[in-house]
Amino acid sequence: MRSRRALGIGLLLMLLLPAACLGGPGPAPSRAPALATARPSPQPSPPSADLSLAPGDVVVYPGPERYSGDLLSFDVTPENLGSIPPSDLLVRLYRLAEGRREAIAEGQVDFPAFDGRARARLTWAWDTHGLVGEQTLVAWLDPDDRIQSGDEDPTNNLLTFTLDLSPALELPPPERGAAWMTETTACCHLHYLSGSAAARDMPTITAAVEESVAEIAGRLGVSPPAPLEIYFLSRVIGQGGYAYDTVALSYLDRHYAGFDLRLVLRHEIVHLLDTLLFQVYPPALLREGLATYLAGGHYKEEAIPQQGAALLQTGRYIPLETLAGDFYAQQHEVGYLEGAAFVACLVDTYGWDRFLRFYASFEKDLPAAQALGQALEKNFGRGLEETEADFRAWLEAHPPAPEQVRDLEDTIRLFETMRRYQERYDPGANWWSGWLPDPAAGMRRGIVADFIRHPHAPENVALEAMLIAAQENLRAGRLERTEELLDALDRVLRSGVFSGPPESDYLALVEAAQKAGYEVQRIELADERATVWAIARWPYLEELTFYWTAAGWRPAAVGR
Ligand SMILES: [Zn+2]
Repeated sequence: MRSRRALGIGLLLMLLLPAACLGGPGPAPSRAPALATARPSPQPSPPSADLSLAPGDVVVYPGPERYSGDLLSFDVTPENLGSIPPSDLLVRLYRLAEGRREAIAEGQVDFPAFDGRARARLTWAWDTHGLVGEQTLVAWLDPDDRIQSGDEDPTNNLLTFTLDLSPALELPPPERGAAWMTETTACCHLHYLSGSAAARDMPTITAAVEESVAEIAGRLGVSPPAPLEIYFLSRVIGQGGYAYDTVALSYLDRHYAGFDLRLVLRHEIVHLLDTLLFQVYPPALLREGLATYLAGGHYKEEAIPQQGAALLQTGRYIPLETLAGDFYAQQHEVGYLEGAAFVACLVDTYGWDRFLRFYASFEKDLPAAQALGQALEKNFGRGLEETEADFRAWLEAHPPAPEQVRDLEDTIRLFETMRRYQERYDPGANWWSGWLPDPAAGMRRGIVADFIRHPHAPENVALEAMLIAAQENLRAGRLERTEELLDALDRVLRSGVFSGPPESDYLALVEAAQKAGYEVQRIELADERATVWAIARWPYLEELTFYWTAAGWRPAAVGR
């Protein structure tokens, strides 16, 4: 969870975890933000400007596999909406069976998500209990033909597609048998799925949560009036976390979106507790900046002033007016780091107590850059422009070492690569689609699939293991190795082929482990030897050794 961004009516709190959090009364499907604020569609208009549906305009969650008993959700994104008011446009879904057409769900095209494209989001709309095998569905735009202008040809408003429902008994672990559980601690309710990595690691998690809450509450000088609600999800969604009025964190062994438990907890807990400080939300720049600053870094603990100064050196620095004005539209890693450095500079210059008074002093909803300028002027006697000059001078007084500049470039490249991976190989996790299901609602309804199911084809596992290896090398300062892995990831994401080492080694190891009954979670490659952490019996992680032989990668011993 993280910051808030006003989207027309209603606050859409986008909290980007150390990577991406969504905060506040988030994009709850039932209260979609006003479409008027959606950014224009980045898609080029096809030659025909007639309202229509094309293959690819219907997305179904969860996936990639579906099982009898799933409660399925649908995104239906029309082409050529033009000037048709989205809330006037209805989408209805039908199931075709035995020559009959049965309406199964409907809704308005009133959810823009973060990519700005208006869509109908039908959340947990179709209960598939009792159905097995191929299902034929039809998505129908304006099924009652109420729209005339802009929809001269109503025959292209339908899209027929099929879904395959496997028997529920074929549901694989760890999802099979998973149920929501709750651990109650002095500060918090920790919700997790049984049989998951979070369930296995709950003693560690509990200690980390207690310490992080105590630390952040102490720094902010607040005491939480009620237990904090934290949900641990067993799949990566977005950049690993988001929030409604609670926090959702991805916690799993193959967490490919950058994860440091304590750092992520501190970040998210700042977002929960800072709301006790103010009446009016400070701009996202400050909220994300404070969360990243108090966490000690964005993806890893880091020297924030020097890393921030590297933004200047590399020409990546974003003017404060731009960054404050539309924080989440900026390059993600740059925005968070610059926000943290800005907070560090204000704290360094004016002291912690004055900073907190400034943070709590926002009075009414103004455009963010204007609000920031006014609050700076009022608290410190320096407006936005003067403060920016001070900030740049402060950054210049903290020159980065060459390896800190290279670390910044590698970090940005790594997470851009991660997001490209999501777009192509794990689209349900891609946060621009805004599919951030509410775990509290899921728990109330006993829904687990959306919080656990994710792609696990060998190619997915290999690419995710490579992303994790790149992050571990970056964290350890082995930048050359990081860059080799990023080159390898680029090759695969460009071509779809694991043509040579090291990418072919990762894929071969995943397949060799799979043959031995394991799903790989993490790989450490060293020449002709590989250490592989993998799971045969969920959620127990085993450490295996593989050697390169004339016949390929072979396990040294599989001790089960
Ligand atoms: Zn955040």
